[in-house]
Amino acid sequence: MTTNYDNDNIFARILRGEIPCHKVHEDEDAIVFMDVMPQSEGHALVVPKAHSRNLLDADPGVLAKIAPMLQKVAVAAKQAFNADGISLMQFNEGAGGQTVFHLHFHIVPRYEGVALRADGRGMEDNEVLAANAEKLKAALAG
Ligand code: AMP
Repeated sequence: MTTNYDNDNIFARILRGEIPCHKVHEDEDAIVFMDVMPQSEGHALVVPKAHSRNLLDADPGVLAKIAPMLQKVAVAAKQAFNADGISLMQFNEGAGGQTVFHLHFHIVPRYEGVALRADGRGMEDNEVLAANAEKLKAALAG
């Protein structure tokens, strides 16, 4: 098992502005953008800017700073997408379900009796992702 941080992982490249994302929010500590393969309408990712593969090698100070942001985005997502609940998910290493090796947190709107869409179902339409980013942005601002 490798435990090195790869500077060219896809989220590092998004953070450097090398590839686009449907951005919802950015500040000095984190960026929030829509997951391109959402498991539910409005599935967003909160990505700390500091480099770590995942929770296991993260600086505790970074985790302390990101926690209030997770709450804010969860509250905004519940409102923006009329959800009944929110799943906060975070995976560590391949065996733990991780596929992108830069620490990130999933904020997934949930609905009574509705299962999550299968992972890897394919890319959502850009227009849908853009519209959902705007909805979430508005809820965060409001
Ligand atoms: P995981 O590492 O299993 O926590 O999940 C990584 C997540 O990143 C998956 O839900 C992917 O759909 C998502 N993802 C992968 N590439 C991108 C990208 N370029 N922009 C937004 N989300 C992405």
